[in-house]
Amino acid sequence: MSDFYPLEITDIKQETRDAVVLTLKPQASDAARFKYKQGQYLTFKKMFKGESLRRSYSICSSLSDNQLKVAIKKVDGGWFSSWANEELYIGDKIDSMPPMGNFNTPLVRDTHKNYLLFAIGSGITPILSLAKTILEEEPLSQIILTYVNRSYNSIMFREDLSDLKDRFMSRFSVLHILKHDSGDIDLLTGRIDADKCDQLFTRWMSPKHADTAFICGPKEVMLMISERLQAHGMEKSNIKFELFASTPPKKAKAKAVIDKSKNDVVVTLIKDGQTRRLEMSRHSGETVLEAALAENIDLPYSCQAGVCSTCMCKVKSGEVEMQSNYALEDYEVERGTVLSCQSIPLTDELTLSFDEMTHAAEN
Ligand SMILES: Cc1cc2nc3c(=O)[nH]c(=O)nc-3n(C[C@H](O)[C@H](O)[C@H](O)COP(=O)(O)OP(=O)(O)OC[C@H]3O[C@@H](n4cnc5c(N)ncnc54)[C@H](O)[C@@H]3O)c2cc1C
Repeated sequence: MSDFYPLEITDIKQETRDAVVLTLKPQASDAARFKYKQGQYLTFKKMFKGESLRRSYSICSSLSDNQLKVAIKKVDGGWFSSWANEELYIGDKIDSMPPMGNFNTPLVRDTHKNYLLFAIGSGITPILSLAKTILEEEPLSQIILTYVNRSYNSIMFREDLSDLKDRFMSRFSVLHILKHDSGDIDLLTGRIDADKCDQLFTRWMSPKHADTAFICGPKEVMLMISERLQAHGMEKSNIKFELFASTPPKKAKAKAVIDKSKNDVVVTLIKDGQTRRLEMSRHSGETVLEAALAENIDLPYSCQAGVCSTCMCKVKSGEVEMQSNYALEDYEVERGTVLSCQSIPLTDELTLSFDEMTHAAEN
């Protein structure tokens, strides 16, 4: 039921000591499926020690690049990111779902918008795609990027950002905040916290006059930046997030033993025009996705932490409760969109459709 297609690795660039940029090419017959929007991500699948792992990586290329590129930063002890950094070679193939995600806004050529972008560490990947695309496609719009890193050497895409600054000097500026390397300006040195944000939003940029903010990084920092942006006059609905999973990985989670004799919910799943039914308990703590996978029903998913939107679907009948949601906007939830990886049934009967999903920002 879920769609994976082979992508060939046509180039590998060592971006920093612990991050690689992969250039990926779909087969000619799959090219149309892999047309992407700025800020979207790919979901890869790989078998590790008998377990199938899925991991998402944001596309860092712009629309005009017309080339799939992702940047993968090695996480200490991380399975997929270590493998990608150490064991992938040009010519290898990797299974991927088509681009997904709604971390973008529609592009309007003659609009004059002010964007505030915030990236923390590897969170720069979708932000670079957004910055480059907006600068190229909206010739009147302005961007200020605040980019937080540990040290100068850990800054990803240093050269690309510097090239962008040269190309779009009057419309693009970058503030580098470095935790360790001390610079001349106190404000740009050390951890980013509420006090730093308040100073930035008073002296360097005006959230009140900005149209959209895009933030990508760890959850706590993103929430803090969002809170300060709102305190300085920005509407919550104009602040968009992309969270890179920070909850415990699937392989670290003990598998719960589910007593199937207590099943009291009938779930109908619609995907690719096909209908599958399963029974589950609404009191076991099992999510709809977990119940489906246990029945070998192959649904789209990736992070299993409510962070990406790969598993989103529409509630056609019945009700669910989501345990957490960092991926869907409030209005999407109001329209009945849910994340199956976080959904616990509340009713005896539930029907979910994976066939009616359209993303918020259709360009
Ligand atoms: C929408 C989206 C876009 C993303 N884009 C990017 C991107 O552009 N670039 C990027 O680099 N990342 C990105 N990520 C993050 C990426 O998907 C992975 O989460 C990340 O690379 C780590 O995966 P891994 O398999 O290497 O680590 P995992 O194996 O999942 O481990 C993650 C952490 O958990 C710890 N851990 C592992 N096993 C255990 C255990 N048994 N007990 C306790 N702790 C354990 C590890 O030590 C490690 O610190 C994105 C995530 C999302 C959701």
